[in-house]
Amino acid sequence: MLTAIRERDGQKLGAWEAHRDDRPFVCFCCQRVVTLRRGHIIAPHFAHQPPVTCEYGTGESEAHRRCKIAIYESLCTDSRVTKCELERNLGTVRPDVSAYINGVPVAIEVQLSTLSLEKIAYRTSEYRRKGIYVLWLPVYHRGLDQELYSPRPWERWLHATYFGRVYYWLEGATVLPVRFRDYYLLLRGRTRDYQKLSRRKVLITGQPLNLIEHFKPFDRDACARQLRVPNAKLMIAVQ
Ligand SMILES: [Zn+2]
Ligand SMILES: [Zn+2]
Repeated sequence: MLTAIRERDGQKLGAWEAHRDDRPFVCFCCQRVVTLRRGHIIAPHFAHQPPVTCEYGTGESEAHRRCKIAIYESLCTDSRVTKCELERNLGTVRPDVSAYINGVPVAIEVQLSTLSLEKIAYRTSEYRRKGIYVLWLPVYHRGLDQELYSPRPWERWLHATYFGRVYYWLEGATVLPVRFRDYYLLLRGRTRDYQKLSRRKVLITGQPLNLIEHFKPFDRDACARQLRVPNAKLMIAVQ
């Protein structure tokens, strides 16, 4: 994680601004002591000591930390964004980056493939309960360069929830909207040929979008037919 609590006064500090004499640092979640890690190659962060039992102590890669910092930095410097914060403690949820964008409370969750569908759905409901509009951002990867793609279960779920779009993070405040179109295989039967729906999808990529300029808040109703999409407050692209 990129932030921790200075035990002495309860102040939240970012790893980039913390000093050794600020120690000890504790995790906001499990309250255990965490270690400040700084190096020439890795982004500064706080690490739990083994054995790690805290949900914020595992699964965060260097790549994930770098995306969070990049999003945070590009939002912070924009005058249409206020109260930008990394890892804001909201009790049941802790968004990677959160801020008021054009006056709208927004939570941004960066996704690098480790989170379960249940957790994404749970957090989406929690943000709604708190009146916050959520934007889930998987990170763009090589697999998306191909014409056909097998979306993971949570990507299918995002696609259904965000009205047929998944927004992949590219850099800074820039995301790429991608649509999954059904793909049919042509199979030879004994008497005639027939079509079968493939698990793979055809990728339809839109123009890159800016998080601050091209998104607006939207309240959507649950849809039981489509992959159990819950009632949700979402940031969706204006197009
Ligand atoms: Zn912890
Ligand atoms: Zn995250």
